[in-house]
Amino acid sequence: MSEVIEVDVVVVGAGFAGMYMLHKLREQQLNVQVIEAGDDVGGTWYWNRYPGARCDVESMEYSYQFSEELQQQWNWSERYAAQPEILKYASHVADRFDLRDNIQFERRVVSASFDESCHKWLVTTDQGDRYKATFCIMGTGCLSSTNLPDFAGLNDFKGNWYHTGQWPKEGVDFTGKRVAVVGTGSSAIQSIPHIAAQAAHLTVFQRTANFSIPAHNGPLADDFVRQIKSEYAEFRKENRNMHGGFGSRFVRSKESILSVGDDEREQQFEENWALGGFQFLNAFADLSSSTETNQFAADFVRKKIRAMVDDEATATLLCPEQIIGCKRLCVDIDYYQTYNRPNVSLVSVKDNPIQGLTENGLMTTEQEYEFDIIVFATGFDAMTGSLLKMDISGKDGATLADKWHAGPHTLLGLQVNGFPNLFTISGPGSPSVLSNMVVSIQQHVDWISDCIAHMRLNSFTYIEAELAAEQAWVKHTNEIADRTLYPTCNSWYLGANIPGKVRVFMPYVGGLPAYAKKCDEVAKRGYEGFLMQSGGLR
Ligand code: NAP
Repeated sequence: MSEVIEVDVVVVGAGFAGMYMLHKLREQQLNVQVIEAGDDVGGTWYWNRYPGARCDVESMEYSYQFSEELQQQWNWSERYAAQPEILKYASHVADRFDLRDNIQFERRVVSASFDESCHKWLVTTDQGDRYKATFCIMGTGCLSSTNLPDFAGLNDFKGNWYHTGQWPKEGVDFTGKRVAVVGTGSSAIQSIPHIAAQAAHLTVFQRTANFSIPAHNGPLADDFVRQIKSEYAEFRKENRNMHGGFGSRFVRSKESILSVGDDEREQQFEENWALGGFQFLNAFADLSSSTETNQFAADFVRKKIRAMVDDEATATLLCPEQIIGCKRLCVDIDYYQTYNRPNVSLVSVKDNPIQGLTENGLMTTEQEYEFDIIVFATGFDAMTGSLLKMDISGKDGATLADKWHAGPHTLLGLQVNGFPNLFTISGPGSPSVLSNMVVSIQQHVDWISDCIAHMRLNSFTYIEAELAAEQAWVKHTNEIADRTLYPTCNSWYLGANIPGKVRVFMPYVGGLPAYAKKCDEVAKRGYEGFLMQSGGLR
C-alpha cells in the first residue's frame, strides 16, 4: 500500500470547477491536490469529443470571469464555441495559471472516508494513491457519469460501439460505414448531422422526440466582441443577475401569451426563433407557467419541424408530444434538415424497444438492423451519478449512497449533513444545470474558498451542514420545483432516465440571483445553518 500523502485539500476533478477551485485555494497558500481521471484538464469538454459537440451557451458568456486579463486576451471564434476550442481554452487556463503541477492525472478516486478523530478525509484512487486532507471538494460535474443502457450482447457485436460522453481521442471515421445512433437528446442532435455527412447510411433510433431550436451559429463579429470587452465586467454582472446566469443582451418578454392575438403571437415566436437557442422560450413571460400557455410554443415548433422535414411520416415522428422546455431544450445546427438526406432514416423505438446488440447490429422487439458502428447518445446519470460511484463515507461510517437513498439531500447544494468538510461544487440543490455552468461554478468556488478562509481565520477545523437547515433547504427546493411544469415529464433532471433512480427534481429552480443572494446571506450571518468547530487539525 502506498504511503499516505498529507495535503490541506483534495479536489476531485480537473474540469472548470476543479481548476478554478485549485487556483482560488492556492491564493490562500493551501497545499492542494487535484485528482483527475482524464490525462488532461477540461472535464466534460475533455470527454465529450463527439463530432459536432458544441456549447449551447454563447462563448462570450461561457467562460471564466475571475481574471480581467484572461477574458480580455482570450478570443472566441464563434457565437457558440465548439468542443475543441473550449478544450483549448481550458488548457490555456491551466497553462496561464500554472495549474498542472497540482493535478494528478489518470487517477480515478474510488473512495473518500471521514476520520472523526482528526477531522480529515482519507481519499484513495484506483492506482492505490492515498491522500489525507482537511477538506475534500468534489468538482466531479453534473453530467459526467455516462448512462449506457443495460443492453444484452454488447460484447457480441462485431463492429465498434461508442458512447458520446466517452469519445475516443483519435476520433471515429464513419466513411462508408453503416451507422446507428441511439438517442435523440442534445448529444445525438449535435452529432447526427456530422455523422450523416460521412456515413454510407445512418439510422437514428428515437424513443422520445425532443424539441430543438436552431443555434444560428456563426463567426463572432469583431465589433461585437470589442463592444462586450469594452464593458466586460458590467456585462458579466448583468448576466449574473439573469435567472440562468446568461442572456442579458436579449430582452425577456414580460408579456403574457394570453394577452396577444394570433398574428402578434406568431410574429413574436418568429422573432425569437430567429434569435436562436434558448431565447425562443423568452418570447413570452408565461410559456413555462401552464400546459395551456406552453402548448402555443410547442405547436409553433412542431409546425417548424414539419416545414423543415420533407417526409411527412418522419416529420410526424420527430414532433415531440411533451411540454416544451420540460426536458432540456436542444440547440442544433441543421438537425431536422439532416432527415432529408437520402442516407438517413429514423426508427421509433417507443413501442418496439431495443432489446440488445447482436453480432451484426441491433435488435428491437420488431426486427434486427445491421451496422458497422453503433453510437450510444444515451446521456448521463446526472448530478448524483459521479458522486455515488465513489464510496463516500462520513460520520460513523455512514455512506452517501445510504444518505441519498430517497434522493439527494444537501444544504444549498454545497454540503451534506453527516459529511463534514466535504463540499460539492454545483451539487444537487443548487442552480447548476439550469444555469450557465461556468457562472454557477465560479459562484460556488468563491463561496467555498471564502468559507475555508473564514474557518482558518477563526481556527475552525470542522464544518458540517446542520440537519434542520438541510431539511429546510430540501423542502424549499422541492416546493418551488413542484410549482413548475418540470416534474411532469421524464427528464434526467428528475433522474427518470436511469432505471431504479429515485424520482426527485435535483437542481434548484429558483434562479441564480435568488440562490446567490441566499448563499451570501448565509455567509454574512456567520455561515448560518453550518456547524463550525475547532480542534482535531494539524
Ligand atoms: P439525454 O438528453 O439524456 O438523451 C439521451 C437520449 O438517449 C434520449 O433521447 C433517450 O431517450 C435515449 N435513450 C436512453 N436510453 C435509451 C434506450 N434504452 N433506448 C432508446 N433510447 C434511449 O443525453 P444527452 O443528449 O447526452 O444530453 C444530456 C445533457 O447534456 C443535455 O440535456 C445537456 O444539458 C448536456 N449537453 C449539452 C450540450 C451542449 O451544451 N450543447 C451538448 C450535449 C449535452 P428518452 O428521452 O426516451 O429517455
